[in-house]
Amino acid sequence: MLNCLIIGSGVAGLATALSLQKAGHTPVVFEAYGGPSDGVGGFLTVAVNGFDALDTLGLKHAAAGLGFSTPRMSMYLGSTGRHLIDFKYGGALPDGTTARTLTRSELYGLLRTEATRRGIRILYGKGLSSVTETPDGVTAGFDDGTSAEGHLLIGADGLRSTVRTGSTVTTSTGEPGTTRDLRPAFRPTPDT
Ligand SMILES: Cc1cc2nc3c(=O)[nH]c(=O)nc-3n(C[C@H](O)[C@H](O)[C@H](O)COP(=O)(O)OP(=O)(O)OC[C@H]3O[C@@H](n4cnc5c(N)ncnc54)[C@H](O)[C@@H]3O)c2cc1C
Repeated sequence: MLNCLIIGSGVAGLATALSLQKAGHTPVVFEAYGGPSDGVGGFLTVAVNGFDALDTLGLKHAAAGLGFSTPRMSMYLGSTGRHLIDFKYGGALPDGTTARTLTRSELYGLLRTEATRRGIRILYGKGLSSVTETPDGVTAGFDDGTSAEGHLLIGADGLRSTVRTGSTVTTSTGEPGTTRDLRPAFRPTPDT
């Protein structure tokens, strides 16, 4: 059993916490904001593979009751309104589930409620400020002066991730860590 420090309580952090707990580990989630982020964000579309992932957490049916079915999408150029393409959005699962468009807040609320129900600790006001690799695992330091120890640390701290830049990571000897820069190689192409 591993003690897992998860940085960030967005959709990724909470889904990871639920998965790790299901696998027999002990996750604790650390969130920089002072409280839950209900009501924050816009819409997103969960494709059918996302529903498969939610199914492993026992949340597929609850998520299928949120938002609206989105089996197809149309795309338009923002600058001119020119229609670009219509496409099927991932087909349907054998039980008829299609992709659905819902708010980030609805999905977040579902995951957070379930994490809380399953006794997963979510600690707010814990902005990660340092990571120290130790022989046994990792120590996370937070900007409120506290720290936590775990066997592993998972960066689920969003687009401008502190964890993935590796800039806060040192080894227990004080040398820079060997953390790879995991920022995605994907670069958006200009809108032409
Ligand atoms: C308009 C719009 C449309 C979108 N449409 C889609 C879509 O159709 N389909 C889709 O899949 N996605 C879509 N997305 C993207 C989707 O919303 C995001 O990918 C998703 O919410 C990211 O979740 P996350 O948990 O990775 O990050 P976040 O939701 O950003 O959560 C990261 C968390 O980490 C916390 N954090 C940050 N730094 C620290 C730190 N140092 N210490 C502790 N905590 C920290 C933050 O406070 C935050 O709570 C859309 C996004 C937008 C804006």
